[in-house]
Amino acid sequence: ASTTSGQPYVSKLVLLGSSSVGKTSLVLRYIKQDFNSVLPTVGCAFFTKMLDVGSSSLKLEIWDTAGQEKYHSVCHLYFRGANAALLVYDITRKDSFHQAQQWLEDLEKEFQPGEVVVMLVGNKTDLGEERQVSFQEGNEFAESKSLLFMETSVKQNYQVSEVFDTIAQELLKRA
Ligand code: GDP
Ligand code: MG
Repeated sequence: ASTTSGQPYVSKLVLLGSSSVGKTSLVLRYIKQDFNSVLPTVGCAFFTKMLDVGSSSLKLEIWDTAGQEKYHSVCHLYFRGANAALLVYDITRKDSFHQAQQWLEDLEKEFQPGEVVVMLVGNKTDLGEERQVSFQEGNEFAESKSLLFMETSVKQNYQVSEVFDTIAQELLKRA
């Protein structure tokens, strides 16, 4: 389903989560199929990607934070008009899991329930020996808040495209 004018749907996806959990890596891996060339994000970055889901197409605008993670003060403009959000944490850092829960509270202040498609993403499964947040813990929290949930390894390119495809499918369902 594209819009009646034949234009694809455009959706805004924002990335939220503690510093160093792998947000920028995740987007770059997805956009460019690249892993290593990650610089700490300076300035607000956004990327666009066209996605085909069945016979429908969707243009995703992906917004990445620029180090505001530390101050817990992403501007309202960042959230404004968001259709979807990825709450990313690092499975080897419990604090980042708690921070993701904080971000969810911020989202809940800005949006009506169900207004935004939200996925909780536990990244760095390749570091399983250092794991501090179990799959079950992530999954249970996501279920309790009706969030989508996936674990990923950007390093191993595990479930990266699945994250974005799942979001796109959910957005098109609602379109
Ligand atoms: P951001 O601050 O959330 O944007 O995080 P970055 O994307 O800058 O990544 C922080 C660090 O984690 C970088 O050194 C990445 O190479 C590394 N990283 C990202 N994803 C993974 C992953 O899946 N596994 C491992 N082992 N390292 C990762
Ligand atoms: Mg970054």
